[in-house]
Amino acid sequence: MNWITNFVRPKLQAFVGKKEVPENLWETCPKCSQMLLKRELENNLFVCKHCDYHFRIGAKKRFELLFGSNYILMETPKIKPDPLKFKDNKKYADRLKDAQKKNSTNDSVMVASGTLGSIKLTAAIFDFNFLGGSMGMAAGEAIIAACDHSLKNKIPLVIFSSSGGARMQEGILSLMQMPRTVIAVNSLAKSNLPFISVLTDPTTGGVSASFAMLGDIIIAEKNATIGFAGSRVIEETIKEKLPQNFQKSEYLIEKGMIDIVVHRRNLNQKVLNILEFLL
Ligand SMILES: [Zn+2]
Repeated sequence: MNWITNFVRPKLQAFVGKKEVPENLWETCPKCSQMLLKRELENNLFVCKHCDYHFRIGAKKRFELLFGSNYILMETPKIKPDPLKFKDNKKYADRLKDAQKKNSTNDSVMVASGTLGSIKLTAAIFDFNFLGGSMGMAAGEAIIAACDHSLKNKIPLVIFSSSGGARMQEGILSLMQMPRTVIAVNSLAKSNLPFISVLTDPTTGGVSASFAMLGDIIIAEKNATIGFAGSRVIEETIKEKLPQNFQKSEYLIEKGMIDIVVHRRNLNQKVLNILEFLL
């Protein structure tokens, strides 16, 4: 183990006079392996203070970081769950129920209307914790509802993506969400309403291949993985070694695929500046 476990923790335990200091006070950075105090990590917007690694964050936390308390969650349309009665080594209906229980949400996309600075906007946020942020019918409907809300209230839309792609358990019905969401975000352009797409780690598959790449401005968080197929699959197909930072935000901006790469601490200000400019 390391010096925190062997030295700091026993010292802390002696100091507070308790037998146990809870294990879950600490988080290990996946990039630099440093131990981070969870409270400190949260104060730092879930960014590692040693190496700037941006931790993945859930939808509810993102709403808080974006709006503070100035937002109202919207109810997203109900859909018929498990239309194909899909089963692999576990029933999809059961996977869905487990994810709903674990995350206390209906599906992978949550929608809210809120105020950033002085601008009212609709925000849709993917939660990677919910079945890998996969886009099935419920997520598609949620994105469309977010677009409708923006159109009805004549306010901009910001979508934070974090997704492994289409939800395979819903087969072709999940793939249909790609054109549906594309049509929905295009309807905003026709009404001159801004749509900002924020790509967070990871944005892949059917989400990156549909509405997420159609923002009027596409912002990516630092060092996020953004792509369609995984790099190993591509390497095996084209029989070539890919660059080390392939499919990372910094690589994509060099190639002109996205517009801005931001550190999470500057994200709100950047979104606000763009919206002020576009409006
Ligand atoms: Zn780190």
